[in-house]
Amino acid sequence: MRIGGFQKLSLLDYPGKLSAIVFTIGCNFRCPFCYVPHLVLPEVIKKSGEVPVNYVLSYLEKRRNLIDAVVITGGEPTIHNDLPVFIRKLKSMGFLVALETNGSNFGMLRQLIDDKLIDYVEIDIKAPLTFEKYNRAVGNVLTPKIFENVKSSVNLLLKSSIDYEFRTTLVKELHTKDDILEICRSIRGARRYYLQNLKRTGFFVGGKELTSFNEEEIMEILNEGRKIVNVIYRE
Ligand code: SF4
Repeated sequence: MRIGGFQKLSLLDYPGKLSAIVFTIGCNFRCPFCYVPHLVLPEVIKKSGEVPVNYVLSYLEKRRNLIDAVVITGGEPTIHNDLPVFIRKLKSMGFLVALETNGSNFGMLRQLIDDKLIDYVEIDIKAPLTFEKYNRAVGNVLTPKIFENVKSSVNLLLKSSIDYEFRTTLVKELHTKDDILEICRSIRGARRYYLQNLKRTGFFVGGKELTSFNEEEIMEILNEGRKIVNVIYRE
């Protein structure tokens, strides 16, 4: 597994727990609004440093009584075949493990849940679950197989007893209010659906300027969306 970043402490990223965050390198999507090009685009990755896996494990080993959880994000962690091995090591140290994923590796996600290797899952739902819209939102790299995987991952969480959240980043160029309401309908019954507005933080993977939603538009989405599912706005 390749690690491109390691945050030693977070109070926010695992609900109610002190966590450390591991950022894996590489992703199979190219979401235009993605703000971590140094973890996604090969030409930018080349110029960025890596954090040795052993360094991360030995740091965590020494802090096992101080930190409750490890959040694994990216990039896309599930493109790494040895992710389960890494997580097993974290579990053997007694950590709770949260996985942030784009849902494209359904087989690995199901196995991790079945093997009780993860305790919390966050899946990004990039757009309504129709091929064309989803493909646009992930930078036109979607294949029918990956799309089926994403839908299967969403359905798996809806039926699973594992704790999870769905979330969407609101981008004017990719979403309308109706798109978000369509997502709400497709995850009816979900425990939590977080909406977050596009944030400007350096440059995006798509290399283009993008637009966030205004307050009034967000309020409208929240008012209507909350009639369908438990929508929460994340600042
Ligand atoms: S936002 Fe998209 S491109 Fe960026 S890491 Fe997540 S899935 Fe990959």
